[in-house]
Amino acid sequence: MTKAPAQTVITEPANCGLASYACQESNSRGRRYPETGSRLRSAYQRDRDRIVHSAAFRRLEYKTQVFVNHAGDLFRTRLTHTLEVSQIARTVARSLCLNEDLVEAISLAHDLGHPPFGHAGQEALNHCMAEYGGFEHNLQSLRIVDLLEERYAEFDGLNLCYETREGILKHCSPKDATMMGDVGRRFLVREQPSLEAQLANIADEMAYVCHDIDDGLRAGLIDLPSLSDIVLFSQAYGEVKEKYPDLNDRRSTHESVRRMLSALITDVVDATRQCLAALDPDHPDVVRSQDGPLVRYSSNVEIEVKKLKSFLLWKVYRHHWIKRMSVKAQTTIETLFKGFIEQPDLLPPTELEKVRSEEKNRGPAGRARVIADYIAGMTDRYAALEKRRLVNSQARV
Ligand code: MG
Repeated sequence: MTKAPAQTVITEPANCGLASYACQESNSRGRRYPETGSRLRSAYQRDRDRIVHSAAFRRLEYKTQVFVNHAGDLFRTRLTHTLEVSQIARTVARSLCLNEDLVEAISLAHDLGHPPFGHAGQEALNHCMAEYGGFEHNLQSLRIVDLLEERYAEFDGLNLCYETREGILKHCSPKDATMMGDVGRRFLVREQPSLEAQLANIADEMAYVCHDIDDGLRAGLIDLPSLSDIVLFSQAYGEVKEKYPDLNDRRSTHESVRRMLSALITDVVDATRQCLAALDPDHPDVVRSQDGPLVRYSSNVEIEVKKLKSFLLWKVYRHHWIKRMSVKAQTTIETLFKGFIEQPDLLPPTELEKVRSEEKNRGPAGRARVIADYIAGMTDRYAALEKRRLVNSQARV
């Protein structure tokens, strides 16, 4: 006889409405270009929808997170990473009575500016742009939503609310901050962003430390014994093995990663609740005026997350397989940049038109920025195809 499943106790998640420290439309700093509100959706729901409908969002599907897109169908892409971040952030937001629509919008937009080929692509494009102001994917995410998307009749970009843009711009040098207007200001006066922005940031980290273990194991870059010193994983793995001693490795790994993520999320909810209870902020601006972020891990877990990040750096991100991919990415990006900068008429007509116009306004730096925008917008496979078209005269153009 099949054993009946154990009775599951369903506990209702917190549903407390918005807290006084949450961002809401009534305390929003508004959009860059004023617009009439929607009858059906909140301002942050509209932001989320604009992001989901953008071209940059659709491109995330074919952009590398860590493992190149064609390495295997089960590895995370930039898009599935983004969805995991958003799911984690929404769970925490609901538990803390933060603005779920806003945190979702920020999470879905947080990686829009990533060039093809993950971290290697970012490094390569930054190197190409060294004499023209550099390239930084986080600034690029904001540039996309503020300027580069061409979807609306009355403005460039997506005209998102200040709070969404504030959350997208996670870091910024003082030099860049002076040119970023309202969202750059906090980096000059050393203010914090909203709790929703802080949450999207930590959800990004929780998502990737967990899924990079999963993907690293799948790719064979790490194995289970090498994770024995990683407390966050080994604790979860120990629990799983104790409860299910006969479970195979694959299921044990999934169950452990799942438990590890769940433990991280619970830790952030508890530690942040404590912080909020101590400060009792009655407005998002009270959060902004603090010396440091309020959305955080407990101090013990923070130490363990740091250890895990260092483990992933050495065992996964700097693995020779990943390095080989980085070299290929670098060659592709450098070939494209050099080809287009030396001969802009190789660009498609719409891009060439932008190059001519920006060159008139800003000289060579204007030309380079349009080319960097074009390359950063490419998916991995489109970049590889464009490179073949440039270097191989036989390739179809
Ligand atoms: Mg991310």
